[in-house]
Amino acid sequence: MRILVTGGAGFIGSHYVRTLLSGGYPAFAGATVTVLDKLTYSGNRANLAPVEDGGLTFVEGDICDATLVGELMPGHDAVVHFAAESHVDRSILGAGPFVTTNVLGTQVLLDAARAAGVGRFLHVSTDEVYGSIDDGSWTEEWPLQPNSPYSASKAGSDLLALAYHRTHGMEVVVTRCSNNYGHYQFPEKVIPLFVTNLIDGATVPLYGDGGNVRDWLHVSDHCAGIQLALEKGRPGEVYNIGGGRELTNRELTETLLAATGREWESAVRYVEDRKGHDRRYSLSIDKISNELGYTPQITFERGIAETVAWYQDNRAWWEPLKARAALNS
Ligand code: NAD
Repeated sequence: MRILVTGGAGFIGSHYVRTLLSGGYPAFAGATVTVLDKLTYSGNRANLAPVEDGGLTFVEGDICDATLVGELMPGHDAVVHFAAESHVDRSILGAGPFVTTNVLGTQVLLDAARAAGVGRFLHVSTDEVYGSIDDGSWTEEWPLQPNSPYSASKAGSDLLALAYHRTHGMEVVVTRCSNNYGHYQFPEKVIPLFVTNLIDGATVPLYGDGGNVRDWLHVSDHCAGIQLALEKGRPGEVYNIGGGRELTNRELTETLLAATGREWESAVRYVEDRKGHDRRYSLSIDKISNELGYTPQITFERGIAETVAWYQDNRAWWEPLKARAALNS
């Protein structure tokens, strides 16, 4: 079995590839993986170092490059599509790369997968396509009401992927997950940014009143849900994947302060709220739980303790990335 993983040098994609190639998904034992990744600022070859010598072919390239993608696709049994511009704040500064990679890139991949007769296409998306919800939780039937250029571009790619199922009968499955955390996450996202700042004795920037609510999902549980959807999900269906742990940004910050031994007064500075900041995200995971048997395995307490410890032990991984991000910002 050969799997094409786009964005496999990023945070979530590399977790998926490391797990798959080290035997973590028994149904795919012995599978080989081709990673197609452009190595943008957030892509990092070092994320794949633990599995470089075991069934991995790495191709540096752009998912928007139809010639390259068309040559690469034949012979693969499935596509797991992670590649995206993924940071909301960057999409507020400039939406161009988001539309190009997330929408156009997905269309290029779908066309190539269709032409090559690839069996399954798993499109990784986000709960942010649903917008913001005051009460209750989103089911997969909820209307798409994205509020940022990032989430709008992801919504566009979701709809394209689903359209290729309806129009061409492709075996497309879409997953929409909540906020991921874990090791190897680029230190611009809130948890690794806050943890590394706190470790260094610096302050952390808290948006607005700190009352925005997010559901937190360990990357390992997310990838397990993706694998279930890839193996057993019904074509043309959407599956939400959540962690079941909602926290305000203020509560999250308190947890990270406690884990790093820092105090609120000396460590937290309030900053102007993000433009168009969604107030609350909340996902119903009933569908994937009932149909595919998904249950998140990693409690937030355990996951966050392990994540903080990993950043404490792996300064050599994140320090150069932070310097690079500062130069690019
Ligand atoms: P990431 O930014 O860490 O990784 C993205 C990867 O895609 C990088 O390796 C990058 O080099 C690659 N890439 C970007 N543009 C490319 C292009 N044009 N061609 C080829 N490769 C390209 O992102 P992540 O956090 O790992 O997110 C992976 C997926 O999960 C994305 O589709 C994202 O929308 C989705 N998602 C992430 C989260 C989260 O909390 N991180 C939540 C919901 C959904």
